[in-house]
Amino acid sequence: MRNPWSADLTRRAFLRQTGVCGLLALLPLNWRETVLRPPGSVRDFLARCIRCGKCLEACPYDSIRFLDITAGALIHTPHIDPLRTPCYLCQQRGPDGKDRPISRYLRCGEACPTGAIRRIVNDKEVLAAVPEEMKIGVSVLDRRICLAWQYDSCGECYYNCPLKDKALRDRPPREVITGATGIRPYVDPGHCIGCGMCNYVCPVRRHIAESVMKREVRLSRFEQRYAAMVRNVIGRVGEDVKLPAVRVIMRP
Ligand code: SF4
Ligand code: SF4
Ligand code: SF4
Repeated sequence: MRNPWSADLTRRAFLRQTGVCGLLALLPLNWRETVLRPPGSVRDFLARCIRCGKCLEACPYDSIRFLDITAGALIHTPHIDPLRTPCYLCQQRGPDGKDRPISRYLRCGEACPTGAIRRIVNDKEVLAAVPEEMKIGVSVLDRRICLAWQYDSCGECYYNCPLKDKALRDRPPREVITGATGIRPYVDPGHCIGCGMCNYVCPVRRHIAESVMKREVRLSRFEQRYAAMVRNVIGRVGEDVKLPAVRVIMRP
């Protein structure tokens, strides 16, 4: 594999890299708080990423997007927006409900030519133990608006988490819950990689709450199933609550 920092840089790569250095000076101070990078991204990601798009091309689920011009100096760097398309961790779910890896390594890290995204073995044990600094982020769950915690319903996040029973458990460990029969989802921050699948499937969304008032909002069957509960929990907690009920935040 060619070393991008070596003397045989192509003219295009050189211009990209020198451009990146200049742009780094313009970075917003809080960029780390707002941008979710693909799994395996290293701490000095911006110094290494040459914005070649190889990770984006390699992703079989189109989970990776380029930041657009509104991101200023971060333009054309890859990111993940779980509410639009989560990271599937290069897994495919079969008719038996089991996930299977589609490649030996996560494809984005395998394709990255500079080490901005490290190669990670596509194995659930490995993925659940990825070092903190290489995670996409970590999910946090708000019990006040979670339909499982409030109505003994839902559980979509738990069933869809690719690291189910590691990152997302059906009960919090070491917590006694009286009278509960159904799932009470709990995110284990030590094992959650921040793929965002739970964010993507969580039905506690603003448009569902607004669907009665706004006629143009049409709900899918899945959304209709939870609509009444969603309106109740959002109405109770207030308009400024952060949605959905489980969402990825930046790694520390
Ligand atoms: S791990 Fe796989 S699905 Fe996730 S962003 Fe990378 S290539 Fe895409
Ligand atoms: S972000 Fe959600 S779905 Fe992904 S590993 Fe963490 S808990 Fe599981
Ligand atoms: S998907 Fe959302 S509402 Fe449903 S159990 Fe998970 S966090 Fe709660």
